[in-house]
Amino acid sequence: MTTYRPTEEVREGFEVYADRFQAMLPEDAKLIKHYTGTEWAEGPVYISDDDCLLWSDIPNDRMMRWSDADGDSVFRQPCGYTNGHTRDRQGRLVSCEHGGRRISRTEADGTVITLVDNYQGKRLNSPNDIVVKSDGSIWFTDPPYGILSDREGHKAESEIGANYVFRLEPDTGKLEIVGDDFDMPNGLCFSPNESLMYISDTGAPGHIRVFDVADGNRLKNSREFAVVQPGKPDGFRCDSNGNIFTSAWDGIHVYSPQAELLGKILVPEQRTANCCFGGPDMKRLYIAADHSMYSVVLNARGNQSP
Ligand code: MG
Repeated sequence: MTTYRPTEEVREGFEVYADRFQAMLPEDAKLIKHYTGTEWAEGPVYISDDDCLLWSDIPNDRMMRWSDADGDSVFRQPCGYTNGHTRDRQGRLVSCEHGGRRISRTEADGTVITLVDNYQGKRLNSPNDIVVKSDGSIWFTDPPYGILSDREGHKAESEIGANYVFRLEPDTGKLEIVGDDFDMPNGLCFSPNESLMYISDTGAPGHIRVFDVADGNRLKNSREFAVVQPGKPDGFRCDSNGNIFTSAWDGIHVYSPQAELLGKILVPEQRTANCCFGGPDMKRLYIAADHSMYSVVLNARGNQSP
């Protein structure tokens, strides 16, 4: 097993730097481990209709499912080495696939279709993370992690030769580049009113940038939001107040919209990858971290619908 951090630094608990984070913690706040056994957990997505969580175990080419009622099970295997997932406005699962180098959508009858797998005839690298805007457009990042080796996909050369952020109109198939100055674009999410977009870069910068969303379909006014350490900010989500819950190696870091680090949810794994809100009231933060999946109930509400 690869060690990224000294064992004594792998801890569980809460670090409070601001009253606003203390207020997010119920008195009995506790990190709960729901499952362990993944090789690299990523891409959590809450399915409200079913009160269950789906997430990816990328090296094992499988998607996992967990619910309070049913416990854990394998949801899909093989699954095209999925990474990030989200739901569109109709509630359909849309997924980044390293293996198929595509964005797929799971239809109501369970069939999996390709929404896009190339840009101007050149195959995508290995889509990593994904969000859907209220207008139905699909925004995703396309770094090469899934084609660098056979561990999280199939080793191959990049055909595009760059690592873009894309916007897809699923009804027309129109695909356009909305970000072209990233080393390794990775996590992304909109602010609650969609006037801002946050995108992380897990390459050399190791930071999250924030952009203004212009005309609903372009990004402008790039500025650095936060450098996240230890490790890099892989995936993140906003709550309904616009606070950012981002992964770092030591857990989840919580930032105010003004980029003040309010506190940390420490996760006892080597590297925390991603998180999403769920539960019937959207106050349970699910956390995908290395070998395990956790959750903690907060006094904060997720921003995603459905
Ligand atoms: Mg990611």
